[in-house]
Amino acid sequence: MKKHIPFVAYRKVYNWTIKYVVLLFICALFGLCSVYIYFFYSQSTIGENIMDEPIPLTKQDQKVIFNGKKFVHLDLKGAPPKVTYYEYLFPLLAKNGVAGVVIEYEDTFPFKGILHNVSALNAYTRKEIDMINNLADKNRLEIVPLVQTFGHLEFVLKLEEFRELREVPAFPQVLCPSNTKSLHIVSEMLTQIIEAHPYTATIHIGADETHYLGRCKECITRMKFQNITGEGLYLKHIENVRDFLRRKFPLLKILMWDDMLRNFSEEETVNGFDKLGITPVVWQYETDVFNALGPSLWGQYSRQFKKVWIASAFKGAAGVDQYIVDVSHYNQNHRSWMDVVENYKFLLKFEAIILTGWQRYDHFSILCELLPVAIPSLLMNLKILDGDGENRFGPTKEVAQILNCQQPYALMGPSFGSPQCAYPGSDILENVYRLHQLEEDYRELRKSSSIKGWMSSYNIHHNFSSPGHIYNIAPHLSHLGQEIKEIENDMSKALLEVYDDSTKNEWIFTFIQPLKKEINELLRVKDELLKRKVWPRRPFKYEVPQKT
Ligand SMILES: [Zn+2]
Repeated sequence: MKKHIPFVAYRKVYNWTIKYVVLLFICALFGLCSVYIYFFYSQSTIGENIMDEPIPLTKQDQKVIFNGKKFVHLDLKGAPPKVTYYEYLFPLLAKNGVAGVVIEYEDTFPFKGILHNVSALNAYTRKEIDMINNLADKNRLEIVPLVQTFGHLEFVLKLEEFRELREVPAFPQVLCPSNTKSLHIVSEMLTQIIEAHPYTATIHIGADETHYLGRCKECITRMKFQNITGEGLYLKHIENVRDFLRRKFPLLKILMWDDMLRNFSEEETVNGFDKLGITPVVWQYETDVFNALGPSLWGQYSRQFKKVWIASAFKGAAGVDQYIVDVSHYNQNHRSWMDVVENYKFLLKFEAIILTGWQRYDHFSILCELLPVAIPSLLMNLKILDGDGENRFGPTKEVAQILNCQQPYALMGPSFGSPQCAYPGSDILENVYRLHQLEEDYRELRKSSSIKGWMSSYNIHHNFSSPGHIYNIAPHLSHLGQEIKEIENDMSKALLEVYDDSTKNEWIFTFIQPLKKEINELLRVKDELLKRKVWPRRPFKYEVPQKT
């Protein structure tokens, strides 16, 4: 029998169903509204975000090529290659897609008149400068002189006659922008160098790492009366240099390093710098360019400039005393730059890149990697800019072919053996590899028990050691002594193929003599210790330092 359900019960079930459906409908409507509002706001703020927020660097699937011009920096600070070396170098650069060279003469330019003493004793002659011009012209390479006009003027300010122009009297690095003679000296340098390069269309005025702004009395007074900051002093000096160039050489394009601008407030840069008509060269030599420059730089620069040049490094930026090129570092620097360019090219025009090759960290520091040692690194970096960046060993084989090298992978570093190349200057590369190997062997020997326990400074000082242990290391030590003599001879000959006597002497003094001295000292002690047949009783009378 069918059970009777009262009407009231039907009505209760019906009411609950209606409520449930209405609740579901409200929830769905709320969800749809939320999704719509999220998409609406995210779309409408894309234009703002792209200027302020870092764009995540993405791995590009397609072949990435640098489309701007490529320039190679020749840093000649006190170590100018013989002019004949450019007969090899310039065609090599031209064949590998280089548009020009940025030449930083520093003290190797033949200055005259009031600047006569600025030239090093091994500076080029005017005749040699003409030869460089002709070789560049023949190979269709533009020469861009780089003339420091503010900071890094050590080569000028170190001299007695220019001492009064220092911002800080004790530090001959930065020019005082308030001294009336400062602009005169800078103008004279620019004039002499530009006039020596009649085909030049671009000048780089340096102005990087200009520390100690507003320290001297004149600058402090000027800041107070003109109501400006150190940054204001900096911009005013750059403006004066620009005005001079515009008056005397109106057709020249002007470049300058960007690092001082990075810390300026946007208002200062926009109001002061952007109107100068100078193109900034954004430099960064680390392996992670994006993070090293900071996430906000590109948004800031895209608001201030229509175009920039950038600067990478193929040598001279991975250690002040490096004589072997860390090829991986420089390859990675270029890959990283390519990522940055690829991700920001829609915001800013990257007009050109300068592959810098620093010869010293500043005028006073020692030599770092020499140019012939870095030719493989330079070519590999150029290949990366041409789109061969993804394959770690990709460019190596092609570069080995260009440079006539038997062992391509050895171009990555000495741990892969000897590259056995046959390009002008490759003997220098071969000998720095030999020296590197010798240093490794010497370091290993120093770690041996025989040296640590029986040839310590105590043993040497008292001529007190066990002959058995000395015999053990004697052959290895003698081999090192012979090898360093041979390297010194071979390296001297190789260096003289490319450089003059003074650069050769400096390099040998810096990188070979200290090691040779240490090895020779151990050899002398070894001979002394082996000669000894009897030893005195301890304690030695001068063993305990006397109280004073
Ligand atoms: Zn000053």
